[in-house]
Amino acid sequence: MYIVQIASECAPVIKAGGLGDVVYGLSRELEQKGHCVELILPKYDCMRYDHIWGLHDAYRDLWVPWFDGKIHCSVYCGWVHGRVCFFIEPHSDDQYFNRGSYYGCNDDNMRFAFFSKAALEFLLQSNKRPDVIHCHDWQTGLVPVMLFEIYKYHGMANQRVLYSIHNFKHQGFGGAEVLEAVQLRRPEYYFSYDKLRDNFNPFSINFMKGGIVYANAVNTVSPHHAWEARYTQISYGLGHTLEQHQDKFSGILNGLDYDFWNPESDRYIPYPYTADTFEQKLYNKKALRERLLLQDEEKPIVCFVGRLDDQKGVHLVHHSIYYSLQRGAQFVLLGSATESSIHNWFAHEKSFLNENPDCHIELGFNEELSHLIYAGADMIVVPSNYEPCGLTQVISLKYGTVPIVRGVGGLINTVFDYDYDQYHLPEERNGFVFFETDPNALESALGRAFDLWGSDRKAFQQLAIQGMKQDYSWNHPAEEYVQLYDRIRHK
Ligand code: ADP
Repeated sequence: MYIVQIASECAPVIKAGGLGDVVYGLSRELEQKGHCVELILPKYDCMRYDHIWGLHDAYRDLWVPWFDGKIHCSVYCGWVHGRVCFFIEPHSDDQYFNRGSYYGCNDDNMRFAFFSKAALEFLLQSNKRPDVIHCHDWQTGLVPVMLFEIYKYHGMANQRVLYSIHNFKHQGFGGAEVLEAVQLRRPEYYFSYDKLRDNFNPFSINFMKGGIVYANAVNTVSPHHAWEARYTQISYGLGHTLEQHQDKFSGILNGLDYDFWNPESDRYIPYPYTADTFEQKLYNKKALRERLLLQDEEKPIVCFVGRLDDQKGVHLVHHSIYYSLQRGAQFVLLGSATESSIHNWFAHEKSFLNENPDCHIELGFNEELSHLIYAGADMIVVPSNYEPCGLTQVISLKYGTVPIVRGVGGLINTVFDYDYDQYHLPEERNGFVFFETDPNALESALGRAFDLWGSDRKAFQQLAIQGMKQDYSWNHPAEEYVQLYDRIRHK
């Protein structure tokens, strides 16, 4: 099968979060299964050019219709760790992708509406006719809309679209000017409730809703989150739309790229180990302590790695620091916040705890350090408010670091409680789960982890080893994606 992924991220060259990991990991696995995969991405000024091999101009004269005129673009081609990627560079005063950051601009809706249009124009003009176009999140929600309203009539009638939603919170909004820009000419038609009109704001179109309405199939990134999206508030107003399109909506759990995330071959950790040589993990714990100047005592290390954002349950992250210290454990936090109030809060904690030999707070994004933390810590807390899939808990499982998670979204599809899980055998359990959002709930689960660590170290290690042996690679999820591609292809 010939698959083209259109996305705003692809790790490691463009990564703001899990989306980048998924786009890369899935593409890689699909190729290993014998499919042809190409990626179309924006050519941001701030992406990691050191991860692109052989970047060259592939298509110089791409003219993209935009409002009443056309914008000239160049398309570059390069290899990102073996994946063929096309990067679109518009030449216009708007400098859409030369902003020093991937997201966060006032005209993000215009930037990504343009990107979606340009990606389709590139396919059209370069005569690429994939079997399936797989696009991701709000940034590319207009791709299926334009494909079936415009490009279908220009020689792209056989293409099918899978639309994957990684986070319902960001949906992409705009007024009639967006429709005008991408040449979806009849505003009254697109502003109808069963098309693009936002479910709550009649004066706005909703990119993500457009993706759901027009795509041949829609999925989110775990089965449980697919359920939550339909039946709880977590789809941020799109529940009714999903209900209307339930026949084409499903959940597929993300995989993890075990070539990159593997304690046996991880170049960022000093002592490689496997489930059979678990005792080597202890040396990484020592290395982590040395690096972060923590005292070397018989204590468990609890960690948190992730964005410091409301979604991640920051109040419980904060609480887990002090609860861990109170219980005689050590705590390591690696996180970055985009919201200044959250950043300042944790910066304050950092200075307050600066001299504490049992705690280290690192604010910022640091890939290399994250690997050492996964390898060196005994436990990780993931107390998210909501979590479409979550990668940090699956990475931790692979590194023998026991996850303590809130039972939402993909967390509940991957972590099974040591004491209380009703659906898995004791030898399949791998962590601790709590459900409520209050500190007591967190304490009850983290407390049980501390109790086990303190009273029966062998059982704790066994739990960690069970997690390491579980398979959360891309192998199985990629198979599910292939089946879904196949299903829409033959519709
Ligand atoms: P989300 O996509 O919501 O940010 P995920 O758990 O799906 O969360 O993916 C997070 C990914 O980003 C993981 O690979 C994690 O290791 C990485 N990550 C998050 N924050 C940091 C950070 N501050 N430094 C290094 N890596 C980080």
